[in-house]
Amino acid sequence: MNAGEIKALLQARGLTPNRALGQNFLVDEAAAAAIAGASGAAKFPVLEIGPGLGALTEALLRLSSQVVAVEIDAAMISILKERFSSAKNLLLRHEDFLDTDLDALKPLLGTQCAVAANLPYYVTTPICMKLLTSELPIAHMALMLQKEAAERFTTLPGSRQYGPLTVLAQRYYEVKTLMTLPPARYYPQPDVDSVVLTLCHRPDVSVLPALPRILATAFSMRRKTLLNNLRSAGLSKESAEALLEQCSISPAARAEALPPEAFARLATQWEAEMSK
Ligand code: SAM
Repeated sequence: MNAGEIKALLQARGLTPNRALGQNFLVDEAAAAAIAGASGAAKFPVLEIGPGLGALTEALLRLSSQVVAVEIDAAMISILKERFSSAKNLLLRHEDFLDTDLDALKPLLGTQCAVAANLPYYVTTPICMKLLTSELPIAHMALMLQKEAAERFTTLPGSRQYGPLTVLAQRYYEVKTLMTLPPARYYPQPDVDSVVLTLCHRPDVSVLPALPRILATAFSMRRKTLLNNLRSAGLSKESAEALLEQCSISPAARAEALPPEAFARLATQWEAEMSK
C-alpha cells in the first residue's frame, strides 16, 4: 500500500496513525520484500513484532511456512484479520510484545526461527533486550530501527552508545546493516532515517545465563569502574578483585571500554563461582 491507500484505509475506519504506539507504516514494497528475504523467513517459521497494517507481514507470508505476528493495537488486528483472512500460515496475537510469553510460542516456532520487525521506536530497547535474552531458538533476525538505535548494535567499545544491548547482540549474532531507509518510505514520515539490521546467530557461542545480569551490573553507573559497580552489587572488594583478575580484566577498567569477549569471560567465571 502507498501512503494514499493507507490514509484512505484508516480514514474509512475513523482511524489515524497512533504516534504513541510508534505507528509509522512502511510504504516501500520492495524494501518489505528485501527485509522479509533477509530475515530468514524462507527457511524458518517467523515471529513478527508490530505487524501494523501488514506491509511486512504480506512479504513474510509469501516466504514462510508459519508467521506469528504480535500486535498491541486492536484496530490493527481487526484490519489484519480482514486483509489476510485466507492466509493459513498466519497466527495473530493481540498483545503487548513485552507481555508475550515466548515459551508459549516455542511450539509454533519450531527448533529454529526467524524474527522480523519494523520496531515501534518508543519501545525499541526493551523489545530488543527481550529478544536478545530470550530462550527462543532464533537463527536470524531482520530489524528495522531508527538510525540511533541501530548504532547501538554496531558500535565499538569506548563509544557513548556502547552498552548491554551491544554486547548481547555482538556476542550472540553477526550483525550487519542491510539498508538505510529515508523518512519518505513511511506514512506518516518519522523525523529520522531508519536502518535495517540483519542478525545471524553465531553457531560457535554458548548461551551464558549470567551475562544479562553481569551487564546490568557493569553498566549500572557508567562513570564508575567495573570493580566499584561489582562492589555496589554486593560483592566484597576481595571477591570483585579476584573475579576481575581471573578474567584478565584491570580493576581500573570501565565497562564501556571492554569488548564483548571480556564480558563473556566474566559471565563464565561468575557462573563457575556460583556453581561451587
Ligand atoms: N510492521 C508495520 C509496517 O512496517 O508498516 C508497522 C510498523 S510500526 C513502526 C510499529 C507497530 O508496532 C505498530 O503497528 C504498533 O501498533 C505496534 N506496536 C507498538 N507497540 C507494540 C508493543 N509493545 N507490542 C506489539 N506491537 C506494538
